[in-house]
Amino acid sequence: MTTVQQNLKEIQATIPDNVTLVAVSKFHPAEAISEAYEVGQRVFGESKVQELMAKKEVLPQDIQWHFIGHLQTNKVKFIAPFIAMIHSVDSLRLIQEINKAAAKENRVIDILLQIHIAEEQTKFGFSPAEVIQLLSQYPYTEWKNIRIRGLMGMATFTEDTDQIRKEFGELHGLFDELKSRFFAETDYFNEMSFGMSDDYLIAIEEGSTMVRIGSDIFGRRNY
Ligand SMILES: *Cc1c(COP(=O)(O)O)cnc(C)c1O
Repeated sequence: MTTVQQNLKEIQATIPDNVTLVAVSKFHPAEAISEAYEVGQRVFGESKVQELMAKKEVLPQDIQWHFIGHLQTNKVKFIAPFIAMIHSVDSLRLIQEINKAAAKENRVIDILLQIHIAEEQTKFGFSPAEVIQLLSQYPYTEWKNIRIRGLMGMATFTEDTDQIRKEFGELHGLFDELKSRFFAETDYFNEMSFGMSDDYLIAIEEGSTMVRIGSDIFGRRNY
């Protein structure tokens, strides 16, 4: 068993069955993805369109690719034919673009709304107030080619686990509020993509249904 396979096995043992593990393979080569694939991992997360396209080309077709990075509207068309989920949807323009591109492909694309709650100013995403305003103002049911499946969020990069827990708790609270205010009639608004290598166990305790883990599986990234 390779290191990647060993890491994967150890992490899987800590994740409940109802939580999806997205193996974040960005900056790691296709060979590393193949190792994870060989032991059954099928869901992989990438953050750059070009890198994703190059890997998809050489890897098995039954991989479910999740896009987790900042996505430019002019690149949506490249991933629209195949992407399983886009976690990092952070603007109305991007929503409209994904809907349009998905219609062209005769697909319905699952998306998550990225929420900005962490203290760092640089992180992309809607504030809680902005996302409430968006859903109040726009009849999202008219976007026939996307399904808003839930929220994605990141906690502040800190050692303070109380702070991290508090932020995931706030994200969960926002999820509950949106679900009852806007998605009560649907059954598909059911995903919370919270938690990365350093904080995924806390995220799961706070209700996460999807964790995005990179370094703990594939090792450090060389940027
Ligand atoms: C890189 C990345 C991850 C994985 O981070 P690790 O700390 O390596 O687990 C998760 N989510 C997003 C949005 C990322 O960009």
